[in-house]
Amino acid sequence: MRPILLNPGPVSLSDGVRRAVAAADLCHREPEFAALQDRVRSKLTAIYQLENNTWAPVLLGGSGTTAVEAMLTSLLPRNGRLLVLENGVYGERLSRIAAIHGIESQSIKHGWCESWDLERVASVLAAGKFTHVAAVHHETTCGRLNPVDRLASLCEMNGAELLLDAVSSFAAELIPFQSPALSACAVTANKCLHGIPGLCFVLLRRTALAGAVAPPRSLTLDLALWAEHQERQSTPFTPAVNSLLALDQALNELASEGGWRTRHARYHHLAERVALCLAARGVVPWLAASESSCVLRAYRLPQGKSYAEVHAGLKQRGFIVYAGQGELANEMFRISTMGDITEYDIERLLASLEMIFS
Ligand SMILES: *Cc1c(COP(=O)(O)O)cnc(C)c1O
Repeated sequence: MRPILLNPGPVSLSDGVRRAVAAADLCHREPEFAALQDRVRSKLTAIYQLENNTWAPVLLGGSGTTAVEAMLTSLLPRNGRLLVLENGVYGERLSRIAAIHGIESQSIKHGWCESWDLERVASVLAAGKFTHVAAVHHETTCGRLNPVDRLASLCEMNGAELLLDAVSSFAAELIPFQSPALSACAVTANKCLHGIPGLCFVLLRRTALAGAVAPPRSLTLDLALWAEHQERQSTPFTPAVNSLLALDQALNELASEGGWRTRHARYHHLAERVALCLAARGVVPWLAASESSCVLRAYRLPQGKSYAEVHAGLKQRGFIVYAGQGELANEMFRISTMGDITEYDIERLLASLEMIFS
């Protein structure tokens, strides 16, 4: 039986995507590759019905963090000032990237899992002359969905551009693309899009690209270089060809299932079933459902149950769950409902949870 991945990426693949990975050997200097790249790029903007004149997806090889690093290093001008919002591992990672590259940045720190203090954000923004704000949409550390629509409004009022880590929300949650402050989103192929690892992208507002740093801080992470090539059906370096084949198929499946809203509803439905099953056995969620994303929920380990026990019990039955990060490792476990999860899988999962927590 195939293992079902309930960790926040990579996800369990559909048979169609798994077949697509190995469907062809493709040279990236042939017209067949150019057509594939064009097709994937236009399907990516179509997910949120974005105008191709306004938005450009720029594909890169690498993990989600690669896209985030490319976004920050390509779009922050040398005299730019960045404000970072932190309330978990991934927000802290944004600050770390800025520090490594010598980007002038300030952060508003919240405890892991806490909600943003938007009043504080508003006053820091008003006082600070920031050119850019970077934030995480879905903070996967605890499954918290941050209010990026309200952050985008604050950015508009203060003339700052918003750079979003949408790695674990793109294709499953509403993203404020209508806000002129939103300049870019960093995304991976192997979370809510159901592709394979190795491919990521930054969805860029074209006007933001005009402000890209020159000379660039990095060769392989230079979004302007990748964008310029991809716009003329080229690629500067060998791309993740087979990951693109997989994503092309995964995007067909997303569209035929009814698009991101259907995916949102599906994830939410599965997450609710898991939460109800656990609640009946006294397992308490870390955050209220209203504060959580549809993608992942975090739970408190009940007294006397270690994470190792929960993990091993589920793994034996064919399910991979995820520990809490850092100091949360002994208190938390996380279950994501992304990926190709069938009705049969979920029934078996609920039965397994009943056994383990009864
Ligand atoms: C998964 C994830 C990332 C990227 O992780 P990689 O291991 O680099 O793919 C970044 N931000 C968030 C919010 C994530 O959930």
